[in-house]
This record gives sequence, structure tokens and C-alpha cells, in this order.
Amino acid sequence: MKKIGLLLLIILALLAANIFAVPSSNSLKKQTAEFSLDVSYTVNEDATVPQSFADTLKKAQQLLEKVFRSKEFRAAMFKQSYHDSAYSKSKMACFPMVYDPKTGRISGASVYQNLLKEKEVKLFINIKNNGPKRTTMGASYACNYKFTTYDFWLQEKGELARRLARHIAHEFTHIKGYRHDNKVSARFKWGRDVKEDPAYGVGNIVGEILTEWSKKSII
Ligand SMILES: [Zn+2]
Repeated sequence: MKKIGLLLLIILALLAANIFAVPSSNSLKKQTAEFSLDVSYTVNEDATVPQSFADTLKKAQQLLEKVFRSKEFRAAMFKQSYHDSAYSKSKMACFPMVYDPKTGRISGASVYQNLLKEKEVKLFINIKNNGPKRTTMGASYACNYKFTTYDFWLQEKGELARRLARHIAHEFTHIKGYRHDNKVSARFKWGRDVKEDPAYGVGNIVGEILTEWSKKSII
């Protein structure tokens, strides 16, 4: 009997060890997402890109991949709540439509899940010259993985890879269905507030994480 008791004790101890081991490895997995990004580009005849642009874009792609996979991005997104952003009115069907019809709000968690739904994302940038216009950095449409980047801001000095990572994140948020308020009727106005607009919000979070990592020499 004593032996059986000891055996039971050992089994119980092993079970307890497993019970404690499983959640910790699961929660670690939950904190980092699987996400890979591939960005290619074309340059229109009248547009220009700085020297070594291909390398800079590659760097931007790696930075954004790292941010989207990070626990910092997940934590920051889960704290947010955005304006409906007329996404509930969209007729496109390439993204899940998760919002609260009572409050008209979209949780940051649902934006995060929408952005990371596909494990492998391929984006195509067409770089264009937008003449003297400096108001917008680019343009994109829901469910179209090819978007436009205007060349004027690519010439500005400093941290181009980081600015590109932020820009790609912004346009990718539009691709996933979230619009600015200039695209919708007056009753949906919410401005450029990073706490209200999902595309500005995601771009801002990506920028803040990259700045933080740069300060800590992580990147
Ligand atoms: Zn935008």
C-alpha cells in the first residue's frame, strides 16, 4: 500500500508540474505573433527614390515585421478603442467586421487581430510623383494589396526605414478596411486623432515602439 501511495504522490507531483508548465509556455506564445511581410516596389517614370532605396525598404519591412510580432505592439493595441471609422459600412469582404454596434467603437484588440489575420502578407508599393502636393504621403484602398507612396517625403533626411515602416503600417490598416473621416459622410467625423483613427493610431504605435527600441539600441 505504501508503494501505491508513493506512486500516487509522484504522479500527482508530475501532474502539478505540468499544470504549472503549460500556461507559462502558452502565455509566452500568445505574446508574440506569427507574421511575415514581403514588400516590393515599382517607381513611376517621373518619380525618384533616394540611393539604396531597395535596402532601406528591406530594412523597413524587417522593422515592421518585428513590431507586428512583438508583445509591445499587442499590449499597446489591446489598450486602444477607436472610432467605428465607417468600416462597419464597408461592402468589402476581405476582413472580419468586428465592432460594437451599441457604442460604434472598434476595440484595438479587433484591429490587432484583423492586421495579423494572415501569417504571410505581400504588399506592392507603386511610387509616384504627386506634383507640388504635400498633404498626403500615399493612398490605398481596402482589400487591394498594391498601394501608392508619393516620392516627396522619401527625399527628406533621417530615419527613412523607420518612417517607411510607419507608413506601410498606416496603409496596411486601410487595406484592412479602416478609413479616414474624409472618406465618409459628415456624421462620421473624427479627425486625425491617433486615439480615434485606426490608421493614424496604428502608425503612431509602430513609430513609438521603434523610437523606444532605438533608444534602447534594440534596433
Ligand atoms: Zn491614410
